[in-house]
Amino acid sequence: MNSPISLLLALQDKDVKLAAIKAKLASAPIEIQNISKEIESAEKRFEEHKAEFKSLEAKAANMRAERKQLEEKIAKYRKQMLETKKNDDYLALNDEINRMSAKVSDMESVELQAMMDIDVGRETLEEHKAECEHDIAILNGRIWEIKEQLARLESEYEDAQEQVAEAEGKLPEIFLHAYSKIRNSGKKFPIVVKYDGEKCCGCFLKVSPEVASKFSDPDQPVLCEQCGRIMYT
Ligand SMILES: [Zn+2]
Repeated sequence: MNSPISLLLALQDKDVKLAAIKAKLASAPIEIQNISKEIESAEKRFEEHKAEFKSLEAKAANMRAERKQLEEKIAKYRKQMLETKKNDDYLALNDEINRMSAKVSDMESVELQAMMDIDVGRETLEEHKAECEHDIAILNGRIWEIKEQLARLESEYEDAQEQVAEAEGKLPEIFLHAYSKIRNSGKKFPIVVKYDGEKCCGCFLKVSPEVASKFSDPDQPVLCEQCGRIMYT
């Protein structure tokens, strides 16, 4: 027949497994939430790149509109020049047309640069888009894996619970009661520990001779007076 201690150790083993599954089950939703946040920030990054590109386009459109306005003004002045009778007016219009034409030419160079910036920007945006889509695909893949793992863990959890119950069923009541009390207090595993060199191997403190003398009775659990764990020799 198995000794209460070997039954306790078997139960503890099952409980440790159950606790590990429980911890994984608890952390999975947090992991999914964190990955979802990463997806959101990847999407946000792309939206920022897109807005940057749109502002390049808007800037170029403004330039074009401004230049067109100036060109229309030049055309109007040319018409006036043909109609004017006074030489002074003619010369003044001519000067103004020359000044505006020079400005149009400057504007055209700036606009050309802006168009080149747009071409580069469009390519960069496409690259960003591909990168972002790639990152999101990987992140979604991770979420999918976690969800798959979760389904598996849920069934493992049920099995582990059954195994704990089965191991509990084999224990003498007095041992189960002592063990459950420690386990329910939330103490970290192991809660069934060796007594070695007059010390409890759970807290590594010296055990008094009074407590140590209780090892002579195998039908009673011996608890460490410092940390409350069940000790065995
Ligand atoms: Zn102890």
